[in-house]
Amino acid sequence: MNEIYKHEFFQSNFSRCDASKYHSMHKEDLAELVNGRKIYIWGAGQKGRGFYRALKRNGFVLEAFLDVSEKLQLLGYDGVKVIHPDEVLLSPDTLKDSFILTATVDIKNREMKAQLVSLGRQAGKDFDDIQTLAPFYPTIEVTGICNIQCSSCPRSDRELLPNGKYMSLANYERVIRKMVLEMPFLYLVDLYIWGEPILNKDLPDMIRLNNELGLSTGISTNLNDIRNMPASLDAEPALVRVSLSGMSAETYEITHTKGKWSKVEKNLEALSKLVAERGSKTIIELYFHIYKHNLHEVAAAKKMCEKYDFRFHPALGIILQPLVLKKIQSAGETPSSALLAENQLLRNLDDLLDECHSQNSLPCILKRVAPVINWDLSVMACCSFTGAPLLKNYLEVSLNEIIENRTFSHTCGTCQSNSLHRWNHQTTYTKFLAEVTDGQVNGG
Ligand code: SF4
Ligand code: SF4
Repeated sequence: MNEIYKHEFFQSNFSRCDASKYHSMHKEDLAELVNGRKIYIWGAGQKGRGFYRALKRNGFVLEAFLDVSEKLQLLGYDGVKVIHPDEVLLSPDTLKDSFILTATVDIKNREMKAQLVSLGRQAGKDFDDIQTLAPFYPTIEVTGICNIQCSSCPRSDRELLPNGKYMSLANYERVIRKMVLEMPFLYLVDLYIWGEPILNKDLPDMIRLNNELGLSTGISTNLNDIRNMPASLDAEPALVRVSLSGMSAETYEITHTKGKWSKVEKNLEALSKLVAERGSKTIIELYFHIYKHNLHEVAAAKKMCEKYDFRFHPALGIILQPLVLKKIQSAGETPSSALLAENQLLRNLDDLLDECHSQNSLPCILKRVAPVINWDLSVMACCSFTGAPLLKNYLEVSLNEIIENRTFSHTCGTCQSNSLHRWNHQTTYTKFLAEVTDGQVNGG
């Protein structure tokens, strides 16, 4: 093991982001576990379908998906049957000859596992979570610049985040091929951190390459410039997230600073048409940041999603970690670029910080988000912090080295000593958002 730098916080504290216990499974491990039984994926949604491609890439045959959705049962997926879970669970012989992989969101996953245990099945022997096979969620910055400067984002502060460049297609290919070798059951990769991925003219080819490798792609865009969107949709990403903080120039242009509502409004409509024309399976998700100034526009945002068939994803508007840390380190003085967003926060920054301090001993919410690769191939400690990279070149280090170096790094020590590893934990804001929007919003 290399001699690893240790931040002083870790002289008397354990690391909240230590992910050394997670190991990506290889196909030999799964073959041993399955031991000739029939494989089922429980959950035929986005996760399950994505993971199916990873299984296929590794030469495994899926017997069927299990899902209660009649619609999915009717459609099947890629020639694989989708059957009701009871067809396996209530048939003792079929159940005995099955190895089940659960692939859905946390709460449902827990319910599935409990049901399997109640039927006498053993976790880690007769069934497992796909997260056991693919424990990490990598993210790659394919564009090191953005065309706007949201007040909540370190992009608004050049000291925190100077402009970078584009990742080339050749480098992207090197990165993704290495990733698939190190994480054989990887099924999803996000192509953004602090940049606007759609500006990279090679994005469509990157998405295409992912599909060839059996990987689903997620991107996020501010939708101020959609010139590369048609080609990107042709390449079939799994998810396009649109980040929005208003439904009018008066609101949107405050927090999506330097963005233009007139363009975005037009582009939202154009995007819905592009998707419809292609009969595209890409999910378009509207990530709506809720602040004081746009609270009255939540209903309009939801209505637009219904009209365009977009998925509505509400979130508490917040200021991101690097700006919060800079404020803490400047004796409470907010970086000037972040003031616009700070003034619109629905929850007071100090209250949010107190909440984080009370959770200091809990794990980092981004523990599984690794590796985080910048446009210049450097490896960052985290997708939520800017600053010096952890390691210079992803192509020259192993995943284990990345995790080892991150665990006690300067970035993570500074973050954890300020309790920022619990910052922006959106699922904990659900109840608050439901209250402030009079029930219009019930998910964070
Ligand atoms: S939040 Fe996204 S859209 Fe806004 S400045 Fe940052 S990278 Fe650009
Ligand atoms: S820097 Fe990122 S990975 Fe490290 S502790 Fe903070 S949130 Fe977690």
